[in-house]
Amino acid sequence: MDMSFYGAAREVTGSCYLLRVGEHRILVDCGLIQGNPQHEQHNRDPFPFEPSEIDAVVLTHAHLDHSGRLPLLVKQGFKGPIHTHRATADLCRIMLEDAGYLNEKDAAWENRKRQRQGREPVSPLYTQAEARLAHKQFRALEYGKTKKVLPGITLTLLDAGHILGSAIVKLELKDSNQRRVVVFSGDLGHTGAPILRDPEPVREADLVVMESTYGNRQHRSWDATWQEMGEILSHARASRGNVLIPAFAVGRTQELLYVFKQHYQEWGLADWQIFLDSPMAIKATRVYQKHGTVYDARARQIQEKVGDPFALPNLTMSRHSTQSMAINKMDFGAIIIAGSGMCTGGRITHHLKHNAWRPHAHILIVGFQAAGTRGRALVDGADEIHLWGEPVKVKAQVHTIGGLSAHADQKGLMDWYGRFDGRPRVALVHGEPESMQALASRLHHELQAEVLQPEFGKRLDLTTL
Ligand code: ZN
Repeated sequence: MDMSFYGAAREVTGSCYLLRVGEHRILVDCGLIQGNPQHEQHNRDPFPFEPSEIDAVVLTHAHLDHSGRLPLLVKQGFKGPIHTHRATADLCRIMLEDAGYLNEKDAAWENRKRQRQGREPVSPLYTQAEARLAHKQFRALEYGKTKKVLPGITLTLLDAGHILGSAIVKLELKDSNQRRVVVFSGDLGHTGAPILRDPEPVREADLVVMESTYGNRQHRSWDATWQEMGEILSHARASRGNVLIPAFAVGRTQELLYVFKQHYQEWGLADWQIFLDSPMAIKATRVYQKHGTVYDARARQIQEKVGDPFALPNLTMSRHSTQSMAINKMDFGAIIIAGSGMCTGGRITHHLKHNAWRPHAHILIVGFQAAGTRGRALVDGADEIHLWGEPVKVKAQVHTIGGLSAHADQKGLMDWYGRFDGRPRVALVHGEPESMQALASRLHHELQAEVLQPEFGKRLDLTTL
């Protein structure tokens, strides 16, 4: 009985863990490696195991850094079931297909360049059709229901409160006379976040595999965050400019619509025209609407009293590019929510071109912006950005709202681990070295936990825990 760390080991992307119990092999997550192009090139490396020898996969949640290599795994011979929460299965249908579509588009672009240079063409990592094929292997589960997935392996999913359908994975492993319980936190949500429930506590484990994205940070309070957002919007209303909000299609967009509905009067939102300008975010919102049973108590109450918690009277969902282009004719009065979340592509780039140079416009940054992205340049106060090779002056007011996060902060992580009985051994994953170290130190000193920080390829014998 053992476990190998094949991703998100001392970094934040490419989550992938392999467990061997007797003859059986089960994978937890099979995520995409994300970052700069050299880093992403590793997605094309052969898997450190034989895909056809994997019997089953368990998927914590739909984000691509956890799910994005599943079509590749299937393409290379994996034939077993992919167990996950039913909302994750629905989100993956749209997200993996979209990833396949982008892979095809990127490869076509690269190949035009290669053709001119007389070089060999590349093939897409996987196509849209291959993503669709992988989806047939998904098996939808509910939270809290234990299922025997292989001889000697039972699985329970618990609510992680990170995005819709996100799960903490509890695996009970039995081989000969030995029994071990391994709990994967997946990505843990931020306590008190809108729409979703807080991460469920777990009591029993022999080993906890825990994320540490914000292991060295404390988030602002939700109240302070909403107050800040309200102030920015009323200031924007007075200055009669447009408001651009780059947002991730899954999670952040739905949170925005939901808090807009809660604060509709208070923030004077009736005076605006609000646009959700992202076909992907529109589809993701439909999935959120479909899975109301996993909302937290407040969101369920709203749903029962007033219906759809994301509906606004002045919200336009713009699916087609002609609708998107029409928004560019407005020079004030529009709140535009569009992707991509870090302004690296997508429709937000067109809106930036039409608005970033206007002194009365506002750009509201509501999510994490990685180094090197256009979004990060805006946060860092760039006075010019480049769009399609053309410089565009940034005269718009850029506001960064730091309190919105889909991840638990240091306190959230400490509290969640603190609910386990008997201080099980904990392996930290999914974090940069500084945040991992800060969390490891607190877990060790305050909770006397034995903390591991496994490197890529590390194999852990579970029988000796
Ligand atoms: Zn995630």
